[in-house]
Amino acid sequence: MTGVPATRTMLLVGGGHTHALLLRALARQPEAGLRPVLLARELRAAYSGMLPGFVAGHYARAALEIDLPRLAACAGAEIVAGQAVGIDRTARRVHLADGGSLAYDLLSIDVGIVPALDGIDGAAAHALPVKPVSAFAARWEQALAALSRPDGPRSFAVVGAGVAGLELAFALRHRLDTMGLADGRVTLVAAGPLLAGSSRLARALARRALAHSALRPGAVDLVEADAVAAILPGRVRLHSGRDLACDLALVTTGARAPDWFAGTGLPLDGRGFLALRPTLQLLDDDDIFAAGDCAAVLEHPRPKAGVFAVRQAGPLLDNLRRRHRGQPLRPFTPQRRYLMLMALGGRRAIAAWGPLALAGGWAWTWKDRIDRAFMAGFHDLPSPMAAPDGGNGTG
Ligand SMILES: Cc1cc2nc3c(=O)[nH]c(=O)nc-3n(C[C@H](O)[C@H](O)[C@H](O)COP(=O)(O)OP(=O)(O)OC[C@H]3O[C@@H](n4cnc5c(N)ncnc54)[C@H](O)[C@@H]3O)c2cc1C
Repeated sequence: MTGVPATRTMLLVGGGHTHALLLRALARQPEAGLRPVLLARELRAAYSGMLPGFVAGHYARAALEIDLPRLAACAGAEIVAGQAVGIDRTARRVHLADGGSLAYDLLSIDVGIVPALDGIDGAAAHALPVKPVSAFAARWEQALAALSRPDGPRSFAVVGAGVAGLELAFALRHRLDTMGLADGRVTLVAAGPLLAGSSRLARALARRALAHSALRPGAVDLVEADAVAAILPGRVRLHSGRDLACDLALVTTGARAPDWFAGTGLPLDGRGFLALRPTLQLLDDDDIFAAGDCAAVLEHPRPKAGVFAVRQAGPLLDNLRRRHRGQPLRPFTPQRRYLMLMALGGRRAIAAWGPLALAGGWAWTWKDRIDRAFMAGFHDLPSPMAAPDGGNGTG
């Protein structure tokens, strides 16, 4: 690419897992002539893997949060607090919710998913969605403060019995037990079977853990094949018409693409996620990349999980560098299988890999080590670099 301008703006939209790791790598190896700008809706990005441990009381909130302004400073990146709502590819600008816009030469989008609340009446008003995680963490701390009051919440429903739902139900149970609130009730509600996307063995181990919890005061009750129809003050209504007493409903149901994608004209897959080539570029644009839950590599369909967002960080930065330098890009093939570690409240977890699954304290220790090591990487950052142009990124 002859006539490459001296400095090109690489605009990173969203401070998700992929972009956080990308900035950390950039802090260690900057790219000449590339001016990074991070647009972040939340300035503290949460590492979701530790969220169940935070609810259970194993971790403080700071342990799972990444300080994006500090990370950006270490990477010599400009940071803009704001929310993307549109993209003008002709003008090469990203439009913001506050009416402003940001220019880009290279653009990367890592904005995650939004919880699918629209199918549940009253959810927007009365539920506590788990995503965005940092908003959840703040509201959970309020709920926690209320828990210690005699008239505080005592019945909880976790809506959605995938891995996140199972972990949160057990985390809640553990928190209630450690607070001496064995009379507190936790109900895990599944529209279909428990852990629909997991192996037979992992499901059997989860059922055994639920059954075991039933043997002592303060269980985790499971409702299967009866989706939540409505979340109302003090109760949850199921499709069968059954009501569950519920002071607080945590919602971890399905992943949905952000609404604003639909109006951008960008290529989307059948579920509305950004459609990518194996180079992590959009199908029809060499200068726009994406990663994480908000995107789908059409040739390599994978579930929405943080491990894939994490593993895309290296290839994404490599291809952004290559695009900037005018070098050929490299396709990335993600792993098919991944280690899933499901925390069971106390210091026990299920480890699952493909059809294999085992449970025990060792699995929790393994998860704890992986999660702490991931976050430690964001605590020992190189010292901040001088900002590239000292401006405010609205070039
Ligand atoms: C309780 C729970 C536990 C989990 N545990 C695991 C686990 O152990 N292992 C695993 O692999 N996966 C796990 N997951 C899944 C994992 O959280 C997601 O797959 C992961 O967060 C995806 O990362 P991401 O980078 O795509 O997006 P996210 O981490 O969701 O980050 C998106 C970022 O974009 C920002 N943003 C959003 N919209 C905009 C906008 N319009 N403009 C600017 N910024 C924006 C948000 O503020 C956020 O910081 C868990 C999920 C939950 C809910």
